[in-house]
Amino acid sequence: MKLDVNVLRYMTKEEFRVLTAVEMGQKNHEIVPSELVDRIAGLKRGGAFKNMRTLLRHKLVHHESKQYDGYRLTNLGYDYLAIKTLVNRGLIQGLGRQIGVGKESDIFEVVGENGETMALKLHRLGRTSFRAVKSKRDYLQHRQNYSWLYLSRLAALKEYAFMKALGENGFPVPRAVDWNRHCVLMSLVPGYPMVQVKEINDHSRAYSTIMGLVVKLAEHGLIHCDFNEFNLLIDDEENITMIDFPQMVSTSHKNAQMYFERDTNCIRKFFGKRFNWVPEEPPEGPGVEWPRFADVAVGGRNLDTELAASGFTKENQEQLEQAQAEAEPAEEGDDDAATSSHADGLSEGDRDGEASASEEASSSGSDETDSGAEDERKVGEKGRY
Ligand code: ADP
Ligand code: MG
Repeated sequence: MKLDVNVLRYMTKEEFRVLTAVEMGQKNHEIVPSELVDRIAGLKRGGAFKNMRTLLRHKLVHHESKQYDGYRLTNLGYDYLAIKTLVNRGLIQGLGRQIGVGKESDIFEVVGENGETMALKLHRLGRTSFRAVKSKRDYLQHRQNYSWLYLSRLAALKEYAFMKALGENGFPVPRAVDWNRHCVLMSLVPGYPMVQVKEINDHSRAYSTIMGLVVKLAEHGLIHCDFNEFNLLIDDEENITMIDFPQMVSTSHKNAQMYFERDTNCIRKFFGKRFNWVPEEPPEGPGVEWPRFADVAVGGRNLDTELAASGFTKENQEQLEQAQAEAEPAEEGDDDAATSSHADGLSEGDRDGEASASEEASSSGSDETDSGAEDERKVGEKGRY
C-alpha cells in the first residue's frame, strides 16, 4: 500500500463525496450496499457508480458481491479521508517521506501551510496483534460490532489528548497540532530514537532526565507503559523527547506497579546493555535513580481535566484497554508473543512484516468509521486509565 499524494490532489469533489458516503454507510453496514452509497452521496442518478471506478482503481474502496453488491473502505481510503480533512483545515499541504514504521502505526513527514515540516502518525491498530486475535476462534462472529478502524481512531484521539495535556504540563513531547480519524498531526522532533544511538556523552544526565520523566509521569497519575529506547528520541545536544502514548494507563490501574517497574527496568537494561553504564545505588536506598512505585505514585495531580477537554473519555479508555488486553497474547501463553503490543526488545525492523496483516485487519469486519461524532457503544468492560 502506498500513499500517493498526487492521487489526493487530482481527486474530484464528487469522488470524495462518494468516498465519504461509503464511510458514513459503514456506521451501520459492514459492506455498504451500492444503492445506499448512491443515496448518501446524493449525486445525480448513477453519479456514485461513475466515481466509484476511480476509487476502485486507486484502491480506496473494496467491492464485494458475495451476499449483495456493495463497498467498504480500505485502509488507504480511510487514510485519504483523514489527510484530505487536514488539508481542508489548512494544516498541511503535502505529504513527504515515511520516517517511521512503528508497531502499530506509519509515520510520515508532512509539509505545513507555511512550508514547515511536521510529523503525521497514522494509527494501525491491529497491525501486530491481529494474528493473535484471529487465532481465537469465532472472534469476529461474536463481536460483530468490533472495528479496527474505530479503535485506530480512538488510539489517535488518545494520543492527541495525552500529547496535548503532557505538553501543557511541561513534559518534553512533540507539539500536538491536530487530529482526525486515525491520524495525529504533531511537530517533528529533531532527534533519533535512542535505539539508533551507539554512544552518548553524558550517561548520567540522560539517565536522570529519562528516569525523571517516569517519576514526573507517576506524579501526574500516569504510566507510559511502553517506555523504551524506541519511544525516547535524543538530539545532538542530548535533549530527550518522549513519544507514543496510546497505551498509557493511570497509576490507579490494577497492574500499575508492574507497568511502572517494567518501564524503569527497560531503561536500566538499555543503559547497561548499550552503554555499559549502570546508575550507582545511593547510600540512603532507592532514590531518583532507582524510583519505587510506592514513593512516587502518591497524591499529585492528575490530568483528567485536560484529557476530558480534548474529548477523550474514561469510556474510550475502557474500550481501548479492553481491545489491547484481548490482543495481548503474551499473558495467555500464545505462540504469537513476539507480536505483543508492548515492545520488549523487538527491533522496529522485526515489526515491518506485519503490514499486510494490518491491511486485512483494519478493513475487515468494520462497521464503524465515525469521523468525529460521539459514539455511545461500549466495546469493553470496566477499566481505568
Ligand atoms: P508506534 O506506536 O507505532 O511505535 P511511534 O509513535 O513510536 O509509533 O513512532 C514510530 C517511530 O516514528 C518512532 O520510533 C520515531 O522514530 C518516529 N517518530 C514518531 N513521531 C515522531 C516525531 N514527532 N518526530 C520525529 N520522529 C517521530
Ligand atoms: Mg513506538
